[in-house]
Amino acid sequence: MILPGHIAAAFIASKALRVPTRGAMAASMCPDMIDKPIRWLTRITPNDRIPAHSLLFWGATTYLAGHLAGRSFAKGWAVGYGVHLLCDEVNAHFNPGRIYPWWPFKRYTYHTGPTGLRSSLGDFSKTSLLLEATLAILGIALWWRSGGGRFITTR
Ligand SMILES: [Zn+2]
Repeated sequence: MILPGHIAAAFIASKALRVPTRGAMAASMCPDMIDKPIRWLTRITPNDRIPAHSLLFWGATTYLAGHLAGRSFAKGWAVGYGVHLLCDEVNAHFNPGRIYPWWPFKRYTYHTGPTGLRSSLGDFSKTSLLLEATLAILGIALWWRSGGGRFITTR
């Protein structure tokens, strides 16, 4: 999943589960904001889904979010972060690579992942892009329906 799908999925999940959207949106890209720069700039990890695409980071960042911004925000954070991991896991069935939820407690044979944005985008299959577009359209429709577009209209 890439940016539009992750943001849309977090928004949809926050509305469906009635958790604060602010926390869900803040967490929606967090795993990628950590893992991709580490992989793409330093190459010290085997791919761009370690370490933040793990249950350890999900729990640790949710705890930190609760400590820094309160319990309600942390509920949204947990949903947004969890949906990110879920979307990447679903996407891994259509593209090369996968997530490693039990890192660092379980040994994996790691996929050698992309080393930059271009190679990362090149990994996406048509099915994956269709799923991305569908999620983005559903997210925009829900956002519009929930009043998100009111600042655009002239009424
Ligand atoms: Zn990701």
